[in-house]
Amino acid sequence: MTTVKTLIIGSGPAGYTAAIYAGRSGLAPVLYCGLQPGGQLTTTTVIENFPGFPQGIDANQLMTDMCEQAKRFGADVRDGSIEKADFSSRPFLLTDDRGNTIAAETVIIATGASAKYLGLEDEKKYAGMGVSACATCDGFFYRKKTVAVVGGGDTACEEALYLSSLAKKVYMIVRKPYLRAAEIMRKRVEETANIEILYNTNTLGLFGENGVEGAHLVRYKGEPNEETYDIRIDGFFLAIGHKPNTGIFAGQIDMDEQGFIRTQGNTASTNIEGVFAAGDVADPVYRQGVVAAGFGAKAAIEADRFLQEKGLK
Ligand code: NDP
Repeated sequence: MTTVKTLIIGSGPAGYTAAIYAGRSGLAPVLYCGLQPGGQLTTTTVIENFPGFPQGIDANQLMTDMCEQAKRFGADVRDGSIEKADFSSRPFLLTDDRGNTIAAETVIIATGASAKYLGLEDEKKYAGMGVSACATCDGFFYRKKTVAVVGGGDTACEEALYLSSLAKKVYMIVRKPYLRAAEIMRKRVEETANIEILYNTNTLGLFGENGVEGAHLVRYKGEPNEETYDIRIDGFFLAIGHKPNTGIFAGQIDMDEQGFIRTQGNTASTNIEGVFAAGDVADPVYRQGVVAAGFGAKAAIEADRFLQEKGLK
């Protein structure tokens, strides 16, 4: 079995930035890309808010460049996922999807988060045929059409506003009688003429021949005035939050109620010495590529210091 100084799990901005820093520190990091090489950003098109690119940059290009930069400093970037982690003693033991076990003196968890779905069968049935969890990725296909966004938080408002500039009409399907989003976002949504908010409403299912043509909805579910009705839509966008990808670490590392890894104070350190977390997997709030990248840098710097202190460098 090989023992590495630093194993990085995940290939979003946090993972690659950690690999760049760890590589430059001489840690010869091994990075596992996971199921979605490049991470969540690769599901979008152009990134306009990553500093250094005044004209914006293609998301896939940005992630490919980060990968190349990590490799240039000696990172061993591997396809595949880590499927099992044992943090009970150091070096930690990690097993990949081919059954190889790797021993690692430090681990940087940068596995990100994934969009949540309602859990309806129809979401699977119409996946890629009208159901999406990313308006900025897929909104383009709904020019002058009618779409619905599920959720009442900041993400849902952002997605609805984005779609309102493309689509003819945008419904927001909100299960509560109010939007949870920040006031400024609420106001913007309420003031946008082609957004209609359907409060107290849940989705029962979707319908359509060769793609989404409408949704079955219920208002005041479980109450005496409950009513079901249908809306005609061409696209159904989920914006009900994200789930951190921490399943394989459950029970081994400190997490919050939602499964986000808890880091200590302003650091990337977890409750396990030598295990660090960076990016969306440890960030329920900001969820931005640039924040994740900075977080990855912190994790690698801390891993390097840890190895130095332990005389393992
Ligand atoms: P939130 O958890 O804030 O909101 C999720 C929304 O989805 C809520 O309205 C929730 O309803 C609804 N929801 C959840 N589950 C279901 C379900 N099963 N059926 C129907 N509706 C459901 O997630 P966001 O992704 O919006 O935001 C996450 C964090 O990121 C927040 O802290 C947010 O402030 C931040 N953010 C900030 C932005 C900005 O500042 N520009 C942009 C985007 C996000 P309910 O209210 O009933 O629970």
